[in-house]
Amino acid sequence: MSRKAALRFPGAVVDCRFEATPRDLSALAPRDAAVIVTDENLFTAHPSYFKGWNTVVLKPGEEYKVQATVDTIIAQLIALRADRGFTLVGVGGGVVTDLAGYAASVYMRGIRFGFVPTTLLAMVDASVGGKNGVDVGPYKNLVGTIRQPDFLLYDMRFLTTLPEAQWSNGFAEVVKHACIRDAAGFRTLERYDIASIRKDRRALSELIERNVRLKSSVVRRDPYEKGERRLLNFGHTLGHALETQYELDHGQAVSIGMAFACRLSEDLLGFKDTARVCGLLQRYGLPVDAAFDPERVVGILAMDKKRVGGKMNYVLLEGIGRGVMHSISVDALQKKVRAAAGG
Ligand code: ADP
Ligand code: ZN
Repeated sequence: MSRKAALRFPGAVVDCRFEATPRDLSALAPRDAAVIVTDENLFTAHPSYFKGWNTVVLKPGEEYKVQATVDTIIAQLIALRADRGFTLVGVGGGVVTDLAGYAASVYMRGIRFGFVPTTLLAMVDASVGGKNGVDVGPYKNLVGTIRQPDFLLYDMRFLTTLPEAQWSNGFAEVVKHACIRDAAGFRTLERYDIASIRKDRRALSELIERNVRLKSSVVRRDPYEKGERRLLNFGHTLGHALETQYELDHGQAVSIGMAFACRLSEDLLGFKDTARVCGLLQRYGLPVDAAFDPERVVGILAMDKKRVGGKMNYVLLEGIGRGVMHSISVDALQKKVRAAAGG
């Protein structure tokens, strides 16, 4: 039996089920009026899950998170004669759920949709909060909508085939949540490491639930990113700058960004637990420093949309579980980046 939870957002309640099974999906989406969007890897790895459903199978990869793919989905919805009463279900990682949520939001001005996230990252982060959309050229998530799914199903079977590198990617966001808002969760993570928690299905399921609830409560209290939700950017300012310049996974880039933000927090706020945060990141297979060309990164930081005049709001830690927004000068930030760039 799955565990049900109602995730509340302004103007929407999401029917969320942990330890979900295919039966939950059948109960929430009538097969004759539903279409699943997934990608080739999932379709091949879990054939029985898709049996008997209308499916749109996409090519995997972030490079397909573009408008042309949305057009393909829409063409197939038309071919399937999908009308306003249909439900679109995204079964996949963040790329698939972002595309499915966006396509469902615009097809016939909006049809019902739900997600079955299949990567740890999509489970704890991408599928929660209602943001969806596509990339345009170099601009990630430039076009999209904010709309909550009707349902979210957490089916642990998918994690059995999750590629190695994807685990660390998800853990970067899990550690992020613990750093900004969840000291108890941080201590739990310290009792495990990437290998032991992957084997402990119950701990993993609890960890996912805890992170889904944490992210959804942050989003609920601040849907328009005016205050608390900005804390979710912890590690992401430098992380995004590194990600655009180097071949790094999102989780690796954010991890380096979090370690950097910890060191900044030491200098500016007297934060004392940089070694603990870095130790935890490493336990979960994540890097805490890297050699990079500081001038390339500094240039991107100067263009960051969070910059106002010579100042920028940066997410720092007062303590573990206590993230805060702190205004720092872009000059000081650039000096720190140059000092960190040696790796
Ligand atoms: P995210 O944005 O959540 O990190 P993506 O949608 O980019 O993830 O998926 C990452 C890769 O992992 C893709 O190649 C996808 O097909 C594959 N993938 C996602 N979930 C699974 C799974 N449960 N088992 C096997 N492969 C998966
Ligand atoms: Zn992220």
